[in-house]
Amino acid sequence: MADGRLALVHGDQLAEFTPLDPKGARALHCDLCHYTRSRSEAALYRVHVAARRTRYVTLCLGSAACVTRAGERGLLKLAERIFPIEPIGPDER
Ligand SMILES: [Zn+2]
Repeated sequence: MADGRLALVHGDQLAEFTPLDPKGARALHCDLCHYTRSRSEAALYRVHVAARRTRYVTLCLGSAACVTRAGERGLLKLAERIFPIEPIGPDER
């Protein structure tokens, strides 16, 4: 997505990853490929999993290489942490 947002589709559900402003200067640990990345190589994302519940996920910025490193199993593990998402009503966001 052009604005830096990412989306992950699982079955008929879609998780939207909203990038957050990174705070501090510590290294990030990618939740997908489990590499330790510097601030410039990864980003922290917020995912809405229910009306008032969010999960935080760190992902590499080079997502194609990250997905290659993680493999199908890594992707599945990440999906298990996020899904299922509870449906969010239009006035609950
Ligand atoms: Zn990664």
